[in-house]
Amino acid sequence: MKNIVILGSTGSIGVSALDVIKALGPSYKVLALSARSNTELFLKQLIDFKPKYAVVNSQESYDKIKNSIPAEVKLLEPSVDSLCEIASLKEADLVINGLVGSAGFKPLMSAIKAGKVIALANKEPIVMAGALIMKECQKYSATIVPVDSEPSAVFQSLENCDIHTYREAAKNIKKVLLTASGGPFLKYQGNLDDVKPAQALAHPRWKMGKKITIDSATLMNKGFETIEIMHLFNLPLEKVKIVVHPQSIVHSAVEYEDGAIVAELSNPDMRLPIQYAITYPKRFPCPVKPLSLLDMARLDFMEPDFSAFPCLALAQHAAKHGGSFGAVLNGADEVCVEAFLKEKIKFTDIAKIIEKVFNSHQKDFKTQISIEEALAFDIWARQKAQEFIK
Ligand code: MG
Repeated sequence: MKNIVILGSTGSIGVSALDVIKALGPSYKVLALSARSNTELFLKQLIDFKPKYAVVNSQESYDKIKNSIPAEVKLLEPSVDSLCEIASLKEADLVINGLVGSAGFKPLMSAIKAGKVIALANKEPIVMAGALIMKECQKYSATIVPVDSEPSAVFQSLENCDIHTYREAAKNIKKVLLTASGGPFLKYQGNLDDVKPAQALAHPRWKMGKKITIDSATLMNKGFETIEIMHLFNLPLEKVKIVVHPQSIVHSAVEYEDGAIVAELSNPDMRLPIQYAITYPKRFPCPVKPLSLLDMARLDFMEPDFSAFPCLALAQHAAKHGGSFGAVLNGADEVCVEAFLKEKIKFTDIAKIIEKVFNSHQKDFKTQISIEEALAFDIWARQKAQEFIK
């Protein structure tokens, strides 16, 4: 029996995780769930899965649902502390972090300090303070299992892949081939200055939340994943090569010294990497439509276009210099994505504003940061980005 906590159960990762858990059967039990504003779906999930604990991280949501909770579910106070509490429950065997953005940072740190196995979909904390997070994992014997489809593909392509030793195993690889769909604007003929949120939200391959879909359109998501892979697998930037692959069938690959390339291929559906993070090292039937190689006409691979997608270079700058740049990159990006979705700035302003925030940060750059500093740089970057947006 595996007791599972899901942070962000009404988001796209959470919904997929519950779908997988339901299909896996009674050996996998939902211990705690959290959500923020989608109270209708959350209540339905509480009735369906009857977790021991539930958290809604807003007073408004709390007031809305507190009288409708099933008797067996304990609704905790609406606070970040409660998220941290369920992320570190003694009975929890696995914590799935499906939160969005830096909101997942504190609950992740709590899970780490409790020495948990964490299925991590929420890549932003790693972007903000990856070096520190990996150090804390070591200190508290916590383990991160990748959920993001690309790091999961790398994990699955490693020799003797084991959740406790995969960082060691990664020492033997020549490079990671990190695949990118290219997003909705791959080979776009129009002017990227003029694209509207609805166009940027129309991802050709993946159905995901809004924040990550915009990050995919700017290719910032691929920059974030570069940083994520560097930290998770302890690799330098030079060993992570981005390859555009529009069909999103090869979810990333590992190239070995002898030239052999080992990859993971499947239909683009997050339920597969989520399920593997839950059932590792075992594999079971999954609700995802099996991939038929015979149905595929072709698989294309090409170089990314750094000039059309300047967010890539900004993320690589943060990846190369590390330290405080990650927290600044993430904070500025979250503010810019939100401003773009509200049509306060143009699509192309996202990279321009982040670059301005970087330039302002240069003089205060620190090569090593503490948790408090990561959070402080995040706040600073948000304020700075806001100043440039006005
Ligand atoms: Mg991904």
